[in-house]
Amino acid sequence: MSELISVVVPLYNEEEVIGESYRRLTAVLSAMEEDYELIFVNDGSRDNTFSLAKQLEENDPHVVLVDFARNFGHQMAVTAGVEQAKGDAVVIIDADLQDPPELIPQMVEMWKNGAEVVYGKRVSRKGESAFKKMTAFCYYRVLDALSGWKIPKDTGDFRLMDRRVVDVLRAMPEHNRFLRGMVSWVGFRQEPIEFVREERFAGETKYPLKKMLKLAADGIISFSGKPFGIIRWTGGVLFVAGLLLFLALLIALAFTAVSGWLYVIAAILAVGGLNLLALGLCGVYFERMYDELKGRPLYIVRKVHRDCK
Ligand code: UDP
Ligand code: MG
Repeated sequence: MSELISVVVPLYNEEEVIGESYRRLTAVLSAMEEDYELIFVNDGSRDNTFSLAKQLEENDPHVVLVDFARNFGHQMAVTAGVEQAKGDAVVIIDADLQDPPELIPQMVEMWKNGAEVVYGKRVSRKGESAFKKMTAFCYYRVLDALSGWKIPKDTGDFRLMDRRVVDVLRAMPEHNRFLRGMVSWVGFRQEPIEFVREERFAGETKYPLKKMLKLAADGIISFSGKPFGIIRWTGGVLFVAGLLLFLALLIALAFTAVSGWLYVIAAILAVGGLNLLALGLCGVYFERMYDELKGRPLYIVRKVHRDCK
C-alpha cells in the first residue's frame, strides 16, 4: 500500500494566493507516487478565502478543509491541521508560496531515507523588508543565546514530520505554541534542507509586528529560564559587592573617618541585590511550575527493542 503524505496549509485572508497555491501543490503532489491529502485550515479569514477553499474541497477528494470559528493565529491553525492529518508523513507549508512546494518530493525522499524531521532552512530571503530580515536575523541569534534548548537558526515552520513525531507533538498540549521549537525539542533524526525563501506570491504579510513579537516571546519564554538566571546572577553580584563595600568601610574606619554616604551606597547595593536575588530564586519555582503546566511528555521513546522469545 502506498504511503500517505498530508500537507497542512494555514490560511488567513489568502484569497489572492489560494488558487495558485492549490495549483502548484497539486501539480507537485499528484506527480508523486505516494497518495496525498491537502489540509487547508481557514483561520477566521474575513475575505473570500473560505468559499474558495470550500469549492476546492467540493471538487477535489484530496482536499480537507478545517474552518475555524475565528482567527486563532498561525500556530493554532497549523496545530489543528496537524491534528487532522492522517498521513505517514505530514508537511507544513505556508499558503503564500514563500516556501516552494517543489521541495516536497525531496523532503519525502529524505524521509524515506531515514530522516524523521526534514526542516527547511532559509539561506536567503527575497522580497522581504530590510527591517524584517534584520530583526529575524537578530532574533534567531538572541533565541540561540537565551534558549535552554538549541533550536535551529533561520528555520520557519516549513517542514516534514514523520508520524511518530506528529504523535508526540499531539501529546504536547501547551497553549503558547512555538512549533519550530517544539519539533526540535522532541528529538528524532532531524535533517535540514536549504532553500531560498521566495517573495510572497500576492497580498501582504498576515504577520504584523504585534503577532511577530508574540511569537518571538513565546519562543524565548517557552524554551528558556535564562532571563531568571540573569536576574539571579545580577542580584548575587550586587549583594556581594554591597557586603564587600560595607566590610571595606568598617576596616577603613579603624584608620580614618569615612563619609556617611558611602554606607548608604553599600546598603543600597546589598539590599537591592538581595531583592533581585530573591526574585531570581522565585523564578526557579516559576520555571518548575511552568514545566509542570506545559505537561510535556517526560521522555520520548522512538521504539522499545525487545527480543520476543
Ligand atoms: N496565517 C494564519 N493565521 C494568522 C496569520 C497568518 O493562518 O493569523 C497564515 C498565512 O495565511 C500564511 C502563513 O500563516 O499561510 C504565514 O503567514 P505570512 O506569510 O503572512 O507570514 P510571513 O511569511 O510574512 O512571516
Ligand atoms: Mg509569508
